[in-house]
Amino acid sequence: MTTTANGAYNFKVVLLGEGCVGKTSLLLRYIEDKFNDKHLTTLQATFLNKKININGKRINLAIWDTAGQEKFHALGPIYYRNSNGAILVYDITDEDSFVKVKNWVKELRKMLGTQIVLVIAGNKIDLEHERTVPLEEAESYANTVGAKHFYTSAKLNQGVEELFLDLTQEMTDRFEQNNRSDGNQSPRIQIVDDEAPAHSSCCSGSRSN
Ligand code: GDP
Ligand code: MG
Repeated sequence: MTTTANGAYNFKVVLLGEGCVGKTSLLLRYIEDKFNDKHLTTLQATFLNKKININGKRINLAIWDTAGQEKFHALGPIYYRNSNGAILVYDITDEDSFVKVKNWVKELRKMLGTQIVLVIAGNKIDLEHERTVPLEEAESYANTVGAKHFYTSAKLNQGVEELFLDLTQEMTDRFEQNNRSDGNQSPRIQIVDDEAPAHSSCCSGSRSN
């Protein structure tokens, strides 16, 4: 890991939420042009990479998805540690999944403090007629915990790009603020040389490219 003047920002983002809310679908919708599905068939948590440019800044996102461990309540701190951002997904037709989001917010704030950028995604808005999570409740809850709220449909490709872009922008702003206020002391965010070999992870078979 080196810090370079023209290096890229490297951010870790985790997808969290109850099983079947559409986490994997959102991720696949977002990165479909670059990666194929077999990344997501392993039994361990795994991640996909996405490179983006915002205002001339090069940013590498490592977006972590689960392989269904959430269904067994088996998703621990090892999954979300060192995250710069989290996307907390619920299904607008499933109230329990919204309760689960609240639980995740509590856990992340407790374990990671306010450094992590949180966004909440109310997914499956193509099923608006079946909505059970009240719109105002979700939005005002998000406000109270300092998270932005987005509506998405992985199925119809609505709100997905906006969600990831906004999160990335926010993580970048956060990084730059930290850098201004305490020099190089930024515990969770690293600037790496883009040409350096990819950092190997603990996960099997999840390396992209
Ligand atoms: P995960 O367990 O949270 O990763 O959820 P999946 O991505 O596997 O999706 C669970 C189910 O919800 C699948 O049958 C998807 O086809 C469906 N699904 C995901 N996103 C949407 C959406 O935006 N609209 C609708 N109608 N179904 C969706
Ligand atoms: Mg999944």
